[in-house]
Parts: sequence; structure tokens; C-alpha cells
Amino acid sequence: MPQSFFQCKLWQCPLARQRQVKFIMKIGFIGLGIMGKPMSKNLLKAGYELTVFDINSSAVEEVVATGGAFAGSAAEVSRQSDIVITMLPNSPHVKAAVMGENGVLTEARPGTVLIDMSSIAPLASQEIEKACAEKGVKMIDAPVSGGEPKAIDGTLSIMVGGDREVFDSVKDILRCLGASVVYCGAIGAGNTTKLANQVVVALNIAACAEAFTLSKKAGVDPEQVFEAIKGGLAGSTVMNAKVPMMLDNNFTPGFKIDLHIKDLTNALETAHEVGAPLPLTSQVMEMMQTLHADGFGSDDHSALAKYYAKISGTVIGE
Ligand code: NAD
Repeated sequence: MPQSFFQCKLWQCPLARQRQVKFIMKIGFIGLGIMGKPMSKNLLKAGYELTVFDINSSAVEEVVATGGAFAGSAAEVSRQSDIVITMLPNSPHVKAAVMGENGVLTEARPGTVLIDMSSIAPLASQEIEKACAEKGVKMIDAPVSGGEPKAIDGTLSIMVGGDREVFDSVKDILRCLGASVVYCGAIGAGNTTKLANQVVVALNIAACAEAFTLSKKAGVDPEQVFEAIKGGLAGSTVMNAKVPMMLDNNFTPGFKIDLHIKDLTNALETAHEVGAPLPLTSQVMEMMQTLHADGFGSDDHSALAKYYAKISGTVIGE
């Protein structure tokens, strides 16, 4: 970045300035799993300079091969970056990567922005933000919905909590990853929104499994039932995505039962802390726990159909 750019006329032009800022801002990415890998590749495609880390070195090698810079620890990522993004499984993993030994906060400069895009407990987001603030690091929580296909396309739905000004300062980066980026409120609000999303998805899948088991058991072809009702009030994005999987008896993930158990655990814990009983969620949680105990934890969450197969003796997709 030539020093003269700031003095030249181009700096007066917002578009040119935005393009140059992209190259000035150094981003770090921690957590290169199903979601983090395509998200980090999209940031590279958009022209950002990216330093990456994962405890799984083969994931790091894959992203380095597409232009990312290697880091051997979360601390090294933060030493190289103005903005650090985390995309990790759950609250303990984010705490370890940010607040733990060799974590982000051991090397982060004051003014660094942490964007945690993992789905974790809202109270954990608040705890991590507090530790960040003590070091002069700003944090927002920005979990996503949409799964691997939308992570690849850069069309995720992103729900954000934290200081509005911090959000505004990184909005352009989030727009490289998502088709919808919505500010939801103070720190933790992004994850509260995500929990609400996961409750609706879980209950909707369970309702589909229950309804299509009924039609099968009553002797009406579930494929015809799907055709007849998907355009009406009962239709939903969840129905369109998950019922075809039940009809094919194909439960390749997608989104695993075990990850959904993690989200419903966070939803139930949060709900109990704020005094909002979740009777339907707890029922679906027990169905998922049954599937986990039966060895189906790595199946897609549409495998809730297997729970109904177990109690009714009828398989929707046979
Ligand atoms: P994943 O298990 O595929 O990836 C997590 C990555 O984090 C792994 O590569 C793991 O090695 C790495 N990791 C764990 N601890 C680490 C640490 N301390 N330091 C560095 N790396 C570490 O998970 P995923 O499917 O990519 O999901 C990530 C988050 O996104 C989760 O919170 C999940 O609930 C959420 N999410 C997932 C989906 C989906 O469809 N998979 C959809 C929406 C949201």
C-alpha cells in the first residue's frame, strides 16, 4: 500500500477508498471446519489478506493453498490481524481460542475487532466480550444460518449482536459472507436470535416427521401429501429442504443431530436462566437424545424421522 495513496485524489473517491481499505485491513480466521473453510475462501476471493489457524493442520494447509497465510496458533493470528473471525463448535472452544493459553487475547492489540461467528450460548458471548474489553479489544457475536451450501455461495443469513458502531465498521466484511446481515441488539443478541432460529427449525422438522408418518400409516402416499401441502400455509423452507430427505430415506448431513443437540442445550439453559419455559423444545430435545443414544448423532437432523419410525413401526421413505 503506497503511502502516497492517502495524499492522492483517489482517496477522495469512496469506491476507490473502499477497495484500498480492503487491502489495508488484515483479517485472521480461526476454525476451518465445514463452515469456516468456505467462508475463509470467500474472503480471499473478495481480496482480503487472510491469516488462518485451526487445530486440524490439514484444514489450514487447504486454505493456505488458496492464498491464506499460515499461523501456528490463535495468538499468531491476532498478532497478524486487525480483525479476527472465529468459527468454532461451541462456547468452550471459543473461550479456549480467545481467552486461553496462546489465545487471541495474548497478542491482540487494542482496537482489534473480534467477530465470533460460532453458534454459542449468549451468556458466553457476554463473558468473552468482557474479557476482550479488558484488553481494549472490541467484540461482536455474528452467528449464521444457512449451512454449508450457503457458506460456499456466500449467501448466509447473519445475525449480529454488539456495539452498533463496531458492527458498522465490519459490515462490508460480513456482506462478503452473507446475503442477509441483520443487527439484532447488544452483545449476545446474535446468539439469542440464532437459538430462536434453531428452536423453530427443530420443531418444524419434528412436525414434518410426525405429519408424514401419519400419512404413511394411514395409507396416503407421503410424496403426494408433500406435493399437495408444500405451497399452502404448512409449507416452509424447512419442509422443502428436509421432507425430500425423509422421502429418500437419506440422512447424510447437512446439519448433524449432535450439533442441534448442542444448540438446544444452549437454548434450554438460556431459557431457564431468563425464565422462559420451552416445553416443545424439551420434547424434541429428548427425541434427538434418543437418536444420539441409538448411534445416529452424526445423521442429518431430518433423521428425526427415524424416531417416528421407531415408535410407529413405519418408515416414511420406504
Ligand atoms: P466443524 O466441527 O466442521 O468445524 C469446527 C472447526 O473448529 C474444526 O475444524 C476444528 O478443528 C476447529 N477447532 C476446534 N477447536 C479449536 C480451537 N481451540 N482452535 C482452533 N480451531 C479449533 O463445525 P462447523 O459445522 O463448521 O460449525 C461451526 C459453527 O457454525 C458451530 O457453532 C455450528 O453450530 C455453526 N453452524 C454450523 C452449520 C452447519 O450446517 N454445519 C450451520 C450454521 C451454523
